[in-house]
Amino acid sequence: MKLTFRPYTLQLKEQFTLATSSRNTTPAILVEIEQDGVIGYGEASLPPYLKDTQESVSRFLSNLNLQQFCYSHTLDEVLDHLLKESRDDSAAKAAVDIALHDLYGKQHNVALHKLWNCNLSAIPPTSYTIGIASEEDIRRKTRDADQFKLLKVKLGRDTDKMIINTIRSVTDKPLCVDVNQGWTDKHHALDMLQWCHEQGVVFAEQPMPAEMKNEIAWLTERSPIPVIADEAFQRLSDLDEMAGIYSGINIKLMKCEGLGQALKIIQEARKKSMKILLGCMTETSCAISAASQISSLVDWTDLDGALLISNDCFDGAKLSDGRIVPPDRPGIGVLPI
Ligand code: MG
Repeated sequence: MKLTFRPYTLQLKEQFTLATSSRNTTPAILVEIEQDGVIGYGEASLPPYLKDTQESVSRFLSNLNLQQFCYSHTLDEVLDHLLKESRDDSAAKAAVDIALHDLYGKQHNVALHKLWNCNLSAIPPTSYTIGIASEEDIRRKTRDADQFKLLKVKLGRDTDKMIINTIRSVTDKPLCVDVNQGWTDKHHALDMLQWCHEQGVVFAEQPMPAEMKNEIAWLTERSPIPVIADEAFQRLSDLDEMAGIYSGINIKLMKCEGLGQALKIIQEARKKSMKILLGCMTETSCAISAASQISSLVDWTDLDGALLISNDCFDGAKLSDGRIVPPDRPGIGVLPI
């Protein structure tokens, strides 16, 4: 197997504003793994709040030796080798994991969602993110989102109620909220979650800072809607702790080291009766198409990442009836543009 990679900068269609930051681009690394003329594609997307950077991913990939693997090795053997390479580098590992799975699917001429018996008709609608913005911009963004059945609202500043009231003046669609750790008082957080529930909000992501574990457990116990861990949850080894604090978790391939680990997390989370959101970073259709392969296994999806960029370099999963549906092609099903 031969691995090559190159840096790529994702251009966002609109400035993306969260409780803690704004940005117009996201750095990424695109990966190819080739074996006997068949190419698997992968991607690491690297928003500033991830530890990984283009430099760290490049270093990881330069040191990774896949030449030692041939047809006599199973996919699991290669993935095990990958996971043991380092303790960190989750996005770099995700990029390689995606490319390896894509290669495997192509070599066996099967789409991954078929290989894993995923029922495409069970894919939940994707949410579409309305970032923090002015009243006028929020009204416009809400109208522009008419193809989506669930809107994700970024909260965590002093404009929270204005934002939801503005969206409600345009649509009565279900909403979910992502506070990105923006509330620091548990009583305020509970008041807000109760108010959000009355406004038709179906779940809340990371309402308080990840380190405020006792306060979040207190909040989850009293909240009328599920409280989902995002910043607090990275990978499989975090899951046990999450079960006592949150109602559910947000799995993102870039955090959890790829599809192989995501499948294990889904299995383990279900044993703990936890809710599962499958999310993404701003990503090309490469990583989004990879995530879409397992999207029928979760409660909610938030896979709008490729729709938010203007320079997608892959044709892949498509929005259909409010859902991100994987292509009917082998592997992750993407074609480079
Ligand atoms: Mg989030």
